[in-house]
Amino acid sequence: MDKQTLSFQAEVKQILHLVTHSLYSNKEIFLRELVSNASDACDKLRFEALDNAALFEDQPNLEIRVWFDAEKKTITIRDNGIGMTAEEAVAHLGTIAKSGTREFMAKLEGDQKKDANLIGQFGVGFYSGFIVAERMTVETRRAGAEASQGVRWSSEGTGDFEVETIERAQRGTDVILHLREGEEEFLSAWKLKSIISKYSDHISLPVLMPKQKWDEEKKEQVTTDEWEPVNKAAALWTRPKSEVTDAQYQEFYKQISYDQEAPLAYTHNRVEGRTEYTQLLYVPAKAPFDLWNRDKRGGVKLYVKRVFIMDDAEALMPVYLRFVKGVIDSADLPLNVSRELLQESRDVKAIREGSTKKVLGMLEDVAENQKDKYAEFWKQFGAVLKEGIGEDFQNQERLAKLLRFASTTADEGVSLPDYVARMKEGQESIYYITADSLAAAKNSPQLEIFRKKGIEVLLLTDRVDEWMLSHLYEFDGKPLQSVAKGGVDLGKLQDEEEKKAAEATAEALKPLIDRLKGSLQDRAKDVRVTTRLVDSPACIVVDEGDMSGHLARMLKQAGQ
Ligand code: ADP
Ligand code: MG
Repeated sequence: MDKQTLSFQAEVKQILHLVTHSLYSNKEIFLRELVSNASDACDKLRFEALDNAALFEDQPNLEIRVWFDAEKKTITIRDNGIGMTAEEAVAHLGTIAKSGTREFMAKLEGDQKKDANLIGQFGVGFYSGFIVAERMTVETRRAGAEASQGVRWSSEGTGDFEVETIERAQRGTDVILHLREGEEEFLSAWKLKSIISKYSDHISLPVLMPKQKWDEEKKEQVTTDEWEPVNKAAALWTRPKSEVTDAQYQEFYKQISYDQEAPLAYTHNRVEGRTEYTQLLYVPAKAPFDLWNRDKRGGVKLYVKRVFIMDDAEALMPVYLRFVKGVIDSADLPLNVSRELLQESRDVKAIREGSTKKVLGMLEDVAENQKDKYAEFWKQFGAVLKEGIGEDFQNQERLAKLLRFASTTADEGVSLPDYVARMKEGQESIYYITADSLAAAKNSPQLEIFRKKGIEVLLLTDRVDEWMLSHLYEFDGKPLQSVAKGGVDLGKLQDEEEKKAAEATAEALKPLIDRLKGSLQDRAKDVRVTTRLVDSPACIVVDEGDMSGHLARMLKQAGQ
């Protein structure tokens, strides 16, 4: 075929324009996209070769090579994968076949703010090379075709591209980027290596680059003709559980978390079904310093088919599990998925639900079988987990069982099931009190009657407790009842005589009560005779349903 000049499909022109003008702030992604295409091409060859081993020709080892030429200002990404025929090059690099692209375009055109995030939602892929390249040349030969059937495709990424037949012995594809003025930073082995290890470390094929060597005479690093892999070429999470040792899991955790301490627990699963993904999730042993920052993104990395997509993909985990670290590798999401798209995706929702259940399962297991470890976990992360009570109604019951409290019986580690098991005959509610500190809670006069009757009361001193309890009304069918609110009704716990005595006292004290009501008119809603005190003469309570005194003090402190 002689050299032909063809025009890009109209949508491609629009995409090229948008990509080169809007994705500039994140330009290094071009390398991820091109390496990922190279890896796809090798996967396709491997697949076709299942039926036709001759396609491997004399090169059965699939690999990707990346190098640059500082003088010519080019970067080349070479694969020995499936390659393209001339027709395929025209179709794949000149038109967009993917469904969904048109809808994205329509959405983009209808949208007023054409920001980079929106653009990130559709196929950047191959065309992202034009962010840094003023010209891209592709030289390719399809596996199994004659050397005379090579193809050269070339374009400046504006209106049209050229194709011609060339002689090419090498199977597969070279993508050559002729860098724009000002993009010289990419002409560096160190730079390219660091981008590849950032995004493509877990590509299952080796990505090779020329080895660098220190030259004593020139006093600089020089390129040798030896090639060395710059990625690990095997993703730990893609390997079967039985082939990964505990030490390897631990090491991987250190790599992804930068945490020197061993994790508390981890879980590794391949989930099959409507949504397919692999998860490798870790619960750290120690809280990071910025745990309290709710805007901090999560610690779960998203991969799509072993290609790194993004760090801290918060849509994959609920906020209250933001301490979880690990990797989720989806088989269904598109490679160019953006944060915005993640929020809306049904697959992501299924992944989040599945992963949340796995993490809760891990915690339940530790709580059940390694009580000391769980106590330590609770100290580090308990207050964060409590946020889940108000945020994740689906799992509220499971979360409630994982809660640990101090109580009038034990200073720590009391679970709701423990409490319920210790409830007195006739006790209908789970009693609690909130305060700033354990000492303040313990010394509260409101506890007197409960002490006297030997009824356990939970002592809640975390800042989130009030908020949490506004979402947790009951546990195991038993209402949670503040001892500092309303007229505590001890119900069946109070015997007839006590009730009669209380009524008699109330009657006798009526004149006093009336006087107190009169003098406290503007400051107290009501004045009542109470049975909750044993030693103290009086205490302040709030009405059922009103803000507790503790919460009111907290809000006042916060200036509200
Ligand atoms: P995607 O990878 O999502 O399909 P791209 O824009 O990245 O979209 O690539 C478009 C198409 O071009 C690919 O689907 C493939 O058919 C073809 N292609 C790109 N790079 C290569 C390559 N290195 N080898 C073979 N085909 C390629
Ligand atoms: Mg691609």
